[in-house]
Parts: sequence; C-alpha cells; structure tokens
Amino acid sequence: MATAVLALQGAFIEHERRLEELGEQCIEIRELSDLKRPFNRLVLPGGESTVQGRLLRQEGLLAPLKERIEEGMPVLATCAGLILLAQRIEDTIEDGADRGQVRPPQHFGTLDATVVRNAYGRQLGSFHTQGTVGKLEGVPMTFIRAPFIKEAGPKAEVLSVVDGRIVAVRQRNQLALAFHPELDQDLRIHRAFLAL
Ligand code: GLN
Repeated sequence: MATAVLALQGAFIEHERRLEELGEQCIEIRELSDLKRPFNRLVLPGGESTVQGRLLRQEGLLAPLKERIEEGMPVLATCAGLILLAQRIEDTIEDGADRGQVRPPQHFGTLDATVVRNAYGRQLGSFHTQGTVGKLEGVPMTFIRAPFIKEAGPKAEVLSVVDGRIVAVRQRNQLALAFHPELDQDLRIHRAFLAL
C-alpha cells in the first residue's frame, strides 16, 4: 500500500522525498479520481491553509478524506495541514482580512485542538530550533509562518512544547505538527508516522 500526499498546493514533494527515503511508496492526491488508487496513510503538507481548504472543497475531496481520517487512517499533518485538521481555528488580526465572514466548511475539524494561524507575528513566524517530540529528542524544527496550538482538548496528547507553546500533538491516528520535519534530514518523525 501507499501513502497519499495531498498535492493541491504547498510543500508536498519534500514529504514524498522523506517517505521514499524510508522505502514508502507515495501517490499524489489532486482530484476526486485520485482517491480510487489504494492508499492507507495520508500526509497533509504545509502551505497556505485557506488555499488548500478552498481547493479541497472545490474538488470534492473534503468529505471523503474526512471520512477516512475518522475511520482511523493514519495522517501526518504539518503546519497548514495542522490548521486543516484542527476543530477550532483563530486568525491573528494582521492576517484576518476576511475575518468574521461566514465561510462554508473548508477544513477537516477532526483534531480536538484550537490553533492560532500565523501566531508568531511577521518577524518571528519563521525560525529554526531543536526540540523534543514525545520520546524523540533533539528533533530539528523549521517553522515557517507557523501556527501554534493554543489549546489541546482531552482527546489530543501534547507531544512537544517550544517556548511555552504547543507545537505537536497526537490524537490516535492523527499526528499534527506546527513545524516542517520534511525540510530537515532527520527522518524520525516520518518513521514514527509510518509506525502509527
Ligand atoms: N501560514 C500558513 C497558513 O496559515 C501556514 C504556513 C505553513 O504551512 N508553513 O496556512
């Protein structure tokens, strides 16, 4: 079986490279017909969550993928992907040009967490550090206009906190990160995903 990588927009190729280095086969999901190919894992890459969400809805991918996630298919979500999984999303003011507008659902909302988009402000949104993720120590962490997790609900286990902010959680089959493990050479996060 293969891992499906959502390839509508953003940093999906880098996830494919990391997974292929671990011997995993990847397929790309862009439209409904791509779901006919067999896969048993899903990657939601970084990028722009509003754009990805809109395309997911337009392509009719939102409901069928949500169903697979709810059925327990392992999913690795990074950055914008984390935002797409979160049940509750807060926009920061500087990014909130369309704040307050009523929009049709365009995210999965399967992860019991509240995320704040572009949470670090323009200057601090992109940085590199190292941290602990669950049992993994010294994990390289690249943040790019990153969200953080303001609150993880009882169903979500906190795996990593950087500077007092939650940056990784796991809820059963869902592993969600505010940073980009695919941009560093450390394969441990992708290996952990393949072991889910
Ligand atoms: N700022 C982006 C968003 O809100 C996320 C950035 C990223 O995925 N690197 O969707």
